[in-house]
Amino acid sequence: MAVDEIVSSAHALEPQIIAWRRDFHAHPELGFQEFRTAKVVAQALSEMGLEVVTGIAKTGVMAIIGEGSPVVAIRGDMDALPILEANQVEYASQTPGKMHACGHDSHTAMLLGVARILTSMPNRPAGQIRLLFQPCEETVDEEHKSGAQRMVEEGAMVGVDRVIALHVASDVPAGKIVANGGPLTAAVDDFNARIIGRGCHGAHPNDGIDPIFLAAQVLNALQGVRSRRLNPIHPAVLTVGTIHGGTARNVIPDDVTISGTLRSYDPGIREQLRVEVERALGVARALGGDFEVEFILGCPSVINDNHVAATIQSAVRDIAGADALLAQEPSMGGEDYSYMTNSAPGAMFMLGAKLDEISRPHHNPLFDIDESVFKTGAAVLAETACRLLTQLA
Ligand SMILES: [Zn+2]
Ligand SMILES: [Zn+2]
Repeated sequence: MAVDEIVSSAHALEPQIIAWRRDFHAHPELGFQEFRTAKVVAQALSEMGLEVVTGIAKTGVMAIIGEGSPVVAIRGDMDALPILEANQVEYASQTPGKMHACGHDSHTAMLLGVARILTSMPNRPAGQIRLLFQPCEETVDEEHKSGAQRMVEEGAMVGVDRVIALHVASDVPAGKIVANGGPLTAAVDDFNARIIGRGCHGAHPNDGIDPIFLAAQVLNALQGVRSRRLNPIHPAVLTVGTIHGGTARNVIPDDVTISGTLRSYDPGIREQLRVEVERALGVARALGGDFEVEFILGCPSVINDNHVAATIQSAVRDIAGADALLAQEPSMGGEDYSYMTNSAPGAMFMLGAKLDEISRPHHNPLFDIDESVFKTGAAVLAETACRLLTQLA
């Protein structure tokens, strides 16, 4: 059976996958600066006899295994974060202030493992497996574009029938896998607003329009958006993260600035959130002031395709046993993989990789993961890709 081949091949590759991950971990690079990482990836893929496309989405790498159709894409992200690593391990970051604190080093390493498994497989199903090594998942460039967005714009998903990916989870027990259909991560939009009044002496508020008072009313109105304006069935978050105004105790300032983030799953709710934020800011106008607002649209929500998620689950059951599957609620965090799942039906699974009893959250200086799960992650990706090809044939 092909699944046994894939599992034993993944086991044999375990030391290599760990070595790749430690190399990437020791040499972290921020979004769209993954020059060394891309070079190592391209080199490894070339050594497997694959034709490699580099420079897609600036620092992305793409390779194709097999030919024709159907086409299944597998995505791995390569970027690190601007964090000073606190772990004292032999593979710790050699660049102070940069760290693979989200596990993307392991995603890249496992995807290279998948490439090795699939290229050395004698009876691979017919069709194409496209490996997408994506830059810059964590942030955006000066044009507000992230790595997946640029990969899609530059044609990486053209002709792709299905797409899969994984993300390690440092808080999920090692070896457990979450592969639900439906929402996985939220759409992420931000806003910057200015509440405009008219400054005057604090002793004579009637001479001006107090923007601090206006802001207080606006905050109330914003808090009412979730509870009074949105369909309670659909999850959404509206958080005001900053508020700034004023310079002295006895001076009423000209304006107050606020900024916040909007999270949602449903595209309709996503749009409505922006309308409601504007409406809430309109309270400032009703009270004699004014406002300006700009929205910064981020990535959409990752909605796992039910059928692709079920295929991942079936692969997990055969590779790691039914006990490995864990149900977990979706997150209001963001993941730019959504640009790919918006281009073709796809899913992402979470690979539990909790290392020890120390709390090691993602984006934390103590982040680290259990490397013994990599072989399972690589095997599930490879097996799922093969199953999808067979289903689509
Ligand atoms: Zn992250
Ligand atoms: Zn991540």
